[in-house]
Amino acid sequence: MLQISGISKSFEAVLVLRDIDLTINDGDIVCLLGPSGCGKTTLLRIIAGLEQPATGDVHLQGRSVLGLPAHRRDFGLMFQDFALFPHMTVAENVAFGLKMHEAANIQERVREVLYLVSLQGFEGRDVSQLSGGERQRVALARSLAPSPRLLMLDEPLGSLDVNLRERLATELRTIIKAVGLTGIYVTHDQSEAFAIADQVAVMNAGQIEQVETPQSLFLQPKSRFV
Ligand code: ADP
Ligand code: MG
Repeated sequence: MLQISGISKSFEAVLVLRDIDLTINDGDIVCLLGPSGCGKTTLLRIIAGLEQPATGDVHLQGRSVLGLPAHRRDFGLMFQDFALFPHMTVAENVAFGLKMHEAANIQERVREVLYLVSLQGFEGRDVSQLSGGERQRVALARSLAPSPRLLMLDEPLGSLDVNLRERLATELRTIIKAVGLTGIYVTHDQSEAFAIADQVAVMNAGQIEQVETPQSLFLQPKSRFV
């Protein structure tokens, strides 16, 4: 279980997160849904360890992770632009986080995760020769390769066609569920959020307004904003 409690954060005296509480059960995918600038990325960066909160704590399985640097939290991150390395093959991109293991194990693991995202046989392809959807799956494979304890995705489909997004969000959900990972998915797009999430946390101006299943949120919104 991931427990976020009392998280606040300011940038230059402007409060961008106020007293955020959120509990995420193991194996659930929670979506942070809200308009641009409401603080979604900042909250994700705090959970990832890329930013320190002013107040509050983040516990995973009952233990605070705040004292751990980002690379020791074993959390996977995937961003909007995928940040694939353009001059590397698919296999080299996926292997990027696996440096510490033996070469034979790396090959095996790369094959495994490429199979998971339905890109078996793509090892030697240059990433510049892939479609947008394929690049997105390579980025996902790269995040999955080190077997993270938590997967965080920040608007991972933001640069793709609107009509592709809902389908890819459903595909992402299927893969994350197959691995049994706990996920936090950030988006400003409601249909994408509803396609991927077990629970949706609606954010507005640095606060969480409501956390519910997509269906309950739709049937019983707590406020006009929701
Ligand atoms: P979202 O991801 O929901 O669009 P962000 O978390 O990126 O929102 O940003 C929330 C607010 O914090 C915005 O007003 C943004 O301009 C501000 N902000 C984010 N990062 C920084 C930073 N490093 N320095 C100053 N202001 C920041
Ligand atoms: Mg953002």
